[in-house]
Amino acid sequence: MIEVFRLIFPEIPMDIYENFHRTFSGGNQNTFNVCSKCGGACEHNKIGTLLPGEKEYMAKKMGISVSEFKLKYLDILKMDDGTLIHVLKLGELCPFLNEETEVCECRDFKPIICKIYPVVFTIESDKVSFIIDKWCQLSRKKVCRNYFESAIPLLSHLPIPIEWFRHVISYDDLNFDYDQLRESRKGKNQYAVFTMRELLNFQKDEVTSYEIETYGVKTNKLGMYDIKAASSGIDLCQEIEETTF
Ligand code: SF4
Ligand code: SF4
Repeated sequence: MIEVFRLIFPEIPMDIYENFHRTFSGGNQNTFNVCSKCGGACEHNKIGTLLPGEKEYMAKKMGISVSEFKLKYLDILKMDDGTLIHVLKLGELCPFLNEETEVCECRDFKPIICKIYPVVFTIESDKVSFIIDKWCQLSRKKVCRNYFESAIPLLSHLPIPIEWFRHVISYDDLNFDYDQLRESRKGKNQYAVFTMRELLNFQKDEVTSYEIETYGVKTNKLGMYDIKAASSGIDLCQEIEETTF
């Protein structure tokens, strides 16, 4: 029998999640205005990946068990090497999106990868870089770009193994057809496992592309990042003063 090398990532401690959410609110009036006009393109095409230990953190915030949380909100992506990555349930709408109010029902403790979008990551020469995704309309507004770039130092200090980034990068910049994904769910368990091959079958062509510059911040870390609490002196929740786009 062939041994499968499956990575199990160490959980990020809960106080690091708490600190992140306290320091970076994830939106302000400027970003809200752009997202309202966009109509939530990322909600319909992108996959919401959870960081190691994030399901435990979110379940605790909701006062439910991790088992219940997984059943209600999560699926699993099985990478080619057998590594399992937890993602928000694959389907037309995120399980946390309230369809009537259009409000995210976990907004105070939402997955960090959701919260920081349009910040995305790349790896070159074993270095992780965080950049602004030009696919998102927020990338076209300087005031919004500045706001999200302010999250990059916080992200750089999260103790995320580079192997986790490598796996997520293999699908994170792709767009998927959620209708087809919903169809493919038939016959699967409520807490379903999707292989990468299945997932890649449901790719959509690029929906829209915007010609703008990207901004990168290189990290020099190989393997595990050092665990460091973010600076408590920075108030990233404050609104950007520039109000015109
Ligand atoms: S984050 Fe970007 S893609 Fe998502 S709703 Fe806002 S503008 Fe649209
Ligand atoms: S968790 Fe919230 S922010 Fe993230 S996709 Fe779902 S509704 Fe949107």
